[in-house]
Amino acid sequence: MSGVKGKSGRKANPDASLERSKKYTFYVKEYARTNANGNIVEWVEDSYFQWFKIHHGARWQERVRAWMRQDVQHYRQKSYWQCNCPNIGVMGNWRSKKAPHCRLCDSYYREVDRINNMSYTEKQEYYKRKMEQLKREK
Ligand SMILES: [Zn+2]
Repeated sequence: MSGVKGKSGRKANPDASLERSKKYTFYVKEYARTNANGNIVEWVEDSYFQWFKIHHGARWQERVRAWMRQDVQHYRQKSYWQCNCPNIGVMGNWRSKKAPHCRLCDSYYREVDRINNMSYTEKQEYYKRKMEQLKREK
């Protein structure tokens, strides 16, 4: 530990001054080991965490971060879609699949969502156009 005042908590990235790391407290369960009198002799870390460290060594935190990225990518793919808005900010242009229409750029998750949002006459015109298109393609 450097012990420099005001320097703890955040690790600066030497390669990029526009990036730093924030420290989070990560709790790991410990179990008491007692002697014959029932007194606590020592505390033992959760064995899954110990195995995790045995498996990944000093890179165990990198594995946690990698899993987090994977989990988010999977969750995003499963529950969100991307509209045509600029991809800015934490949520970017990712929209929930429960809301299949973006009012800002007027794009839809799927073609069926676009059709569902049409009025009766718009639907009729849409299907008429589709039929003509199919006839031309034959
Ligand atoms: Zn949009």
